Amino acid sequence: MDLTKYVANIKDFPEEGIIFRDVTPLMKDHNAFKETIDRFVIWANSLEAKVDIVAGPEARGFLFGCPVAYSINAGFVPVRKPGKLPRETVCESYALEYGTNEVHIHADSIKQGQKVIIVDDLLATGGTVEATIKLVEKLGGEVIGIAFLIELEELKGRDKLEGYNIYSMLKY
Ligand code: 5GP
Repeated sequence: MDLTKYVANIKDFPEEGIIFRDVTPLMKDHNAFKETIDRFVIWANSLEAKVDIVAGPEARGFLFGCPVAYSINAGFVPVRKPGKLPRETVCESYALEYGTNEVHIHADSIKQGQKVIIVDDLLATGGTVEATIKLVEKLGGEVIGIAFLIELEELKGRDKLEGYNIYSMLKY
């Protein structure tokens, strides 16, 4: 199945000059969504160790990370913007073109030595996932794989992820 047919390419969203890759048509189509999750699951089951935890960055990392976690009998841990998680958190900030962003994780969400994969819809500059890796590692988790539905290759996010096992389903 050609999953790119289910990704809408939206010009000038959220700003002029940006082509936003909209994954909501893919999620709406039960065959395309199932195929996507199944491919993530095959990849996750091919890793060298059993995955304990799937970490997913807000918000679309939840949409793909949760069904993957359910399917591989792993737990799910949300990585969220400031002010969203109700208990003690650990945080990491990362640079944007203008300004900075911050991501948080519950301080007790990952235990020392647990095997973690990170799942998100899209890899752009890699800032989000790089910060997510740091959060997981601060808690003592071991990131054994990182998976994306879409990789925007020209933004070279992969360069920030050297040494990690990266899986991207669709490359643009
Ligand atoms: P990065 O931190 O790699 O620059 O950006 C990736 C993050 O921004 C991901 O969490 C992703 O959900 C979101 N993102 C950036 N651009 C797009 C896009 O064109 N489409 C979608 N669906 N998400 C995007």
